[in-house]
Amino acid sequence: MTGRVQGVGFRPAVYRIARALGLTGLVYNDTKGVTIELQGQEGQIGQFLARLQSGPDKPPLSEVKSCDTVEIPIVEGETEFVIWSSDAAGPALSEVTADAATCGDCLAEMADKEDFRYGYPFINCTNCGPRYSIVQTIPYDRPNTTMSAFDMCAKCAGQYGDVGERRFHAQPVACGACGPKIWLTDSAGETIESQTDEVIAKAAKLLLDAKIVAIKGIGGFHLAVDALNDRAVQRLRRRKRRDHKPFAMMADSVETIKEYAIVSDAAEQALRSPQAPIVLLPRKGRAGIAPGVAEGVSTLGFMLCYAPLHYLLFAHGISVLVMTSGNISDEPLICRNETALEKLGCVADAFLMHDREIYRQVDDSIVHFIEQQPALLRRARGYVPTPIITDQHSQEGIFAAGADLKNTFCFAKHNQLICSEHIGDLADAEVYHHYISSIEHLRRLFEVEPEIAVCDLHPGYLSTQYALSLSGLKVIEVQHHWAHVASVLAEHGVPGPVIGLVCDGTGYGTDGAIWGCECMIASLEGFERFGHLAYYDLAGADKASKEAIRPVLSLLKRTYGDDFEPGKFEWLLGQIEPDRAKQQMILQQLEKGVNTVQTSSLGRVFDAVAAISGLGNYNHFDAQLPMALEAIIEADVEDSYGFELIGETDGPLRLDLSKMIRELIADVQNEASSGVISAKFHNCLAAALVDMARAARQSCKLNTVALSGGVFCNGYLASRLIKFLKKADFRVLFNRNVPSNDGGISLGQAAIAVNLAREDL
Ligand code: ZN
Ligand code: ZN
Ligand code: FE
Repeated sequence: MTGRVQGVGFRPAVYRIARALGLTGLVYNDTKGVTIELQGQEGQIGQFLARLQSGPDKPPLSEVKSCDTVEIPIVEGETEFVIWSSDAAGPALSEVTADAATCGDCLAEMADKEDFRYGYPFINCTNCGPRYSIVQTIPYDRPNTTMSAFDMCAKCAGQYGDVGERRFHAQPVACGACGPKIWLTDSAGETIESQTDEVIAKAAKLLLDAKIVAIKGIGGFHLAVDALNDRAVQRLRRRKRRDHKPFAMMADSVETIKEYAIVSDAAEQALRSPQAPIVLLPRKGRAGIAPGVAEGVSTLGFMLCYAPLHYLLFAHGISVLVMTSGNISDEPLICRNETALEKLGCVADAFLMHDREIYRQVDDSIVHFIEQQPALLRRARGYVPTPIITDQHSQEGIFAAGADLKNTFCFAKHNQLICSEHIGDLADAEVYHHYISSIEHLRRLFEVEPEIAVCDLHPGYLSTQYALSLSGLKVIEVQHHWAHVASVLAEHGVPGPVIGLVCDGTGYGTDGAIWGCECMIASLEGFERFGHLAYYDLAGADKASKEAIRPVLSLLKRTYGDDFEPGKFEWLLGQIEPDRAKQQMILQQLEKGVNTVQTSSLGRVFDAVAAISGLGNYNHFDAQLPMALEAIIEADVEDSYGFELIGETDGPLRLDLSKMIRELIADVQNEASSGVISAKFHNCLAAALVDMARAARQSCKLNTVALSGGVFCNGYLASRLIKFLKKADFRVLFNRNVPSNDGGISLGQAAIAVNLAREDL
């Protein structure tokens, strides 16, 4: 059997079911999954397979992907069913599994006054609790986790050693007598309370009194505050130096979440899953959630409680908490008690701490819905380090360095692609340091000895420079948008070629330009640029992705050519950049080509359109303006702006948006509603991309389209495009298990390298 069958209590379940059905034989982990030998009546064997894969006997965290059966000779005199230890059959796949939200059985025990773990904030079992975040090294046994600091009491040890128990070999097993404890301190680190019940009651009271409490959880600290109290939320924003980015929230039931947001069945399933991600949900119109939680977006990010401590806290009358990552601006998540006090002492009023050390900081994962199906926007807690399995078998170990923004990295070993959790933006020195140490940790955890390193083509990327600095490794440089397409191919097990549509912010192109809206004919072997957004100039390097005036001026200049007189657009430009001298300077840069680059970035077009629509002029955080533009789309508008696809012999097809800009400017002058303008803009892009795909199909006779790139975090554009592509009879592939933004780049890089180093069978 293959799939998620290791480290999830699978072998004990096999053992229990086999025994119950009177079957003999054995079970062991191997490099592909789990192998089971069974001897007994045929009917019983059928029952065994059914019970293992569904119903109450199925280990909740397991997921069987494939089950191959063969007949083997009868073993005479076999009387028992046994579990073989892992090492007996060679190295296992990966013993370390992802952290899982508290299961229903543990919650019931925690609420049961008769149970010896009644009210215990660290209750867990084989089906739930911390894993990846507490593992220091392999093999995955208690002494190699941060639980090694605690000796099991006789009761816990009894359950741990009993194959018939739910806690058989559950490494973090503990109880109030033997396990970790909680306490509450003030911001100076002085203990206020250490009696478990009192700690929780006092922390809850502080939160209800609008105080900020830093809460240590599974993957790190959260900063928590009452999400219904705007004054408290604003205080948190000020102190955290986070002016604009939406906060995530936590509730203890789906019913509560439904008061504030629309929860589809699929979204409810994601909320309740063992991964317990933050789910982006359409907000309900009516008041309730403090306005300061999420401004300029149409969604609210909610997750359910996922640690026992969360549930105990919410039992004290708390309804909804802001639970934002415990860090200062974009630094790595804080997971150590001392660091939390040192760095968050001026943010939090109190600290709810515990002494179970978090070895790996892991952020909350984020999921949104495209075409009613979940797609990850940030892959971290609950999902990492579950490998993505490929059909290809790499002969060599591979390290993929990822991209510099929203970085993840990836190791490939045999047929497994092991992506790291979300690391962050490498430009921050602490994040970069975290990147380097994380690479070494994961390399050891999965025993990979890389012979090949893959990185982005961008010579200025820190991740590229890191990969190039590794001695003795063969280095492969992969164009950014090819890696985006490859990430989709890897996820779906498709080698290509396909038509790749990548809508993105920026990526370094093979011609030295900054690419960002690309139509490629791509496979894991290589790619050809079939079409792209017509180039425009961007002045001011890094500033161009923050200050919307830069793409605005460039696009206007490109559209109106010699007719462009800034004076005629003063009514518009004055709003976006009141400083005339600065406007002049940017225009001069564009005219003279000083410090400018050619680009086909679609992300910057979004910035420009948002600014022209009056939604702001600056990205305080990545994609702030595009998100604001998406948030105001008026539903059910089918109108669209015009565009042109310009073909030349020999060169790639070019998408020209001059028509769109002219029509859009006219709409703004005529004071059309910004919701309609936004809809027409989005509709124009979807139509243009469908036409681009059609042209590619005509020319290359391919019918599969792979969509990727950060712009597809825009749910409206992604959904509309997928719908129209399907209507045009395309087969559409889209990122779901890794983000379509740069968080998915490392997977694509790794897949390309695996294909190069594959073992041809
Ligand atoms: Zn449990
Ligand atoms: Zn115990
Ligand atoms: Fe990208």
